[in-house]
Amino acid sequence: MTSIKKQRSLTRLTQLLFGAAETPEQRMHLTFLFFAPWGCYFSAVFNAATGITDTLYVAVLLSIGLVVHALWFRARRTLHTHGMAALFCLLMLFVILPLSWFYNEGADGPTLLFFLLLAAYALGAIVLRPWQRAALIASFVVVPTVLLVTGYRHPAWVPAYAAPQQRLLDLTVSYNFSIVLLLILMGGYFRRFENEHRDARDSARRDSLTGLLNHGAFHGVLDQYELERSPDNSAMLLTYDLDHFKQVNDSYGHAYGDEVLCHFSQLLNETVADYAGVAGRCGGEEFNLFIPYATRDDIVALDSRLRERCMKQPLRHGPICFSGGAALDSAETFSVDEWFARSDTALYAAKSAGRNRSLFDDGQPMAIVSTDRR
Ligand code: GH3
Ligand code: MG
Ligand code: MG
Repeated sequence: MTSIKKQRSLTRLTQLLFGAAETPEQRMHLTFLFFAPWGCYFSAVFNAATGITDTLYVAVLLSIGLVVHALWFRARRTLHTHGMAALFCLLMLFVILPLSWFYNEGADGPTLLFFLLLAAYALGAIVLRPWQRAALIASFVVVPTVLLVTGYRHPAWVPAYAAPQQRLLDLTVSYNFSIVLLLILMGGYFRRFENEHRDARDSARRDSLTGLLNHGAFHGVLDQYELERSPDNSAMLLTYDLDHFKQVNDSYGHAYGDEVLCHFSQLLNETVADYAGVAGRCGGEEFNLFIPYATRDDIVALDSRLRERCMKQPLRHGPICFSGGAALDSAETFSVDEWFARSDTALYAAKSAGRNRSLFDDGQPMAIVSTDRR
């Protein structure tokens, strides 16, 4: 099979299994709810074929498999995976496993193993309130203990396997099936841990208001560039600062000011994406862009596009006005601080020249699209 065909089959398979579910938790519950019933079907066929149990139990197993598959189907459709998973656990804990206990030779059969597996799933994968967690832990202690004591008091209620081979088969199959479910569970936990770790790492690098790289992360990008740069590099550093932003805050309130910062950041992000660049918020209303490969014409075009976007998508109190300074990395001896200083000097020259414009560090202006001033 070609890799494209393989990819397509894999996509179809994940769509069938997960529907529109996206989070690792949803996917783990759906995988568990999908595969667990196959254990029931398999067990039903296995029990019928080997004659370990009577036909009533075989019918019960098949029905349980169908019920759990219905839960999977509903969870997949409504994405209430968590609720369906909780229902599945209650069904297993209070109905299916106690039944299995009496039909599969109690403590000498595989049911205790299933109780442990279910406890690992229910207590680890399902988010519970403290009282629910306490009640569930108590149930995982009480239910098997009651079953053990009942089996001890009334041994006749727990029929033995007809032959030792049946027990061997039942335990071997059940154990291997449990290992498969445990692997699914561990895979889900691992992905959840990875995602949480990645989110935490990512949010430490981002400015909490705008989502752009924060001061430290943006400087990190430039430090990395300094390590890797070659003398013929043509990277550009831009510094943008919103014009008369204090007045915006004073006139329309701090919350509106925050809205302006977020909106401007979004427009910056959209614009910088066309140039494979990176945007950061390095001060209150001051932003930086790093464009790894750019000519002066590219930067003029970028600046015009950003001004156009600001004009075409104004907020309630009008379009955002800003000034900018750009510095090309052309120095033989390079330092990040000196590069910042050059783009800052260009920015302050733009402010002194009347704001709402951008300049290169040699004083050359970029095209001005907007003429509106605040
Ligand atoms: P200029 O055109 O010379 O840049 O004038 P300006 O008013 O923009 O500059 P100034 O440095 O005087 O004021 C910057 C303002 O930015 C002051 C501060 O309250 C505001 N500011 C900084 N961070 C935030 C923020 O996170 N949210 C809001 N709403 N305002 C902020
Ligand atoms: Mg300002
Ligand atoms: Mg400023």
